[in-house]
Amino acid sequence: MGTCEEIYPGIFKIVQSKPRRIAPPVNVYIIAGDDGLIFDAGYGDDTSIHLVGDAINSIQNRNKNWRILRVLPSHSHPDHFSGLKQLKSHYGLKVMLTEQMASVLSNKHAYRNSYKLSTLQKYRYSTVFERISELPLQVVFRTMYKKVYGIAFLQSHDTTVRPGETIAINGYNFTIIHGPGHCNDHIMLYDNKEGILFAGDNILRSIYTWLGPPRSNLQEYFDTLEACLCLPNLKLILSAHGSTIHNPKERIKEIIEYRKLRTRQVYSLVANETHGITFARLLNSIYPRSLERRWLAKGWIIVTLEYLVNNNILTFEGRKIKLGANDINTV
Ligand SMILES: [Zn+2]
Repeated sequence: MGTCEEIYPGIFKIVQSKPRRIAPPVNVYIIAGDDGLIFDAGYGDDTSIHLVGDAINSIQNRNKNWRILRVLPSHSHPDHFSGLKQLKSHYGLKVMLTEQMASVLSNKHAYRNSYKLSTLQKYRYSTVFERISELPLQVVFRTMYKKVYGIAFLQSHDTTVRPGETIAINGYNFTIIHGPGHCNDHIMLYDNKEGILFAGDNILRSIYTWLGPPRSNLQEYFDTLEACLCLPNLKLILSAHGSTIHNPKERIKEIIEYRKLRTRQVYSLVANETHGITFARLLNSIYPRSLERRWLAKGWIIVTLEYLVNNNILTFEGRKIKLGANDINTV
C-alpha cells in the first residue's frame, strides 16, 4: 500500500503530499476496527481522496472484521477538514464533528466569518492601504484553497461529539480533549492506557505550529501544552504534520520555551522604544528582509501582542504599542 504505513498496531498513517510551497504534506490516520475511524480528513482533491480510499480498501482486506466507518477532523483548518464531504460521498463514511466545528463548516459564509478580524484588530494591525492592497492576494488564496485543497463545506453532519467523550475502537479508548490555541475548535484524542496522543497541529515534531488571529490564542495555547504535559502515561504523539514524536514531554517543553522566547523578543522590541512602536515597525524589525516570511509570520506576532496586552504587560495607545502596568516576569 506504499503510502499507508502501520505505525502502531491497528493504527495506520497516510501522508497526503502536495508540491512544496503550495500546501504542506498532511497526515491522515486510520484507527482500524469493526467501527474504524479516520482522524483528520486531510485535503479534498481527487488524488488525496483516492489515496485515503485505497488505504481503506487495503486495511479492510487485511482483516475481514475491520470496517472503516467514520471520520473526525482535528479542527476546521482547510488541510484538516476539506476531505470530509468527499470521504462521505465516495466511501459512505459518517462525519463526526463538534458543535463548534459544525457551525464553522456549514457553509462558506460561516467559514469566512470565523476568520474576520474585529474592527479594532484591523485598525491596530493594518492600514487601509494595506488592506486594499491585500485584496487581490485574498482572491488568489481563496481560489487556491478551493482548487488545491479541494475545500468543501457540509450542510449537515452525522454525529455530534463532545470533548470528554470516549471513542472506543478495537481495544483503544480515545478520549476527546479540547485543545484550543492554534485554532479555537481544535480537539485531540488520547488513549491513556497506551499513552498515545493524536495532537493534530498543536504539537509538531520539527516545526512550530502556525498561530494567527482571530482563531489562535497564545494563552490558550500555553494552557493546552501544559495540559498535554500533565497527561499521565504520555508516550507517543501522532501529529497532523511530520513524523511521530517519541520524546513527547521533551518536545512539548521545547515548544513552550520557544513561544516564551518569542514573547520576550516582542516585549523587548517594544521596551526599547521610549515613545512606543507601531505594529508595522515591529513586524519590520522582526523580519527585516523577507516579505514572504512577514506575510506568513505576521500572525504569531499579533497573537503574542494580544497575549501581552491581555496581561497588561503591553498596551495600545491608538496605533502605538507601549509598555503596560505589569512586568514581563508576571507571565
Ligand atoms: Zn491547523
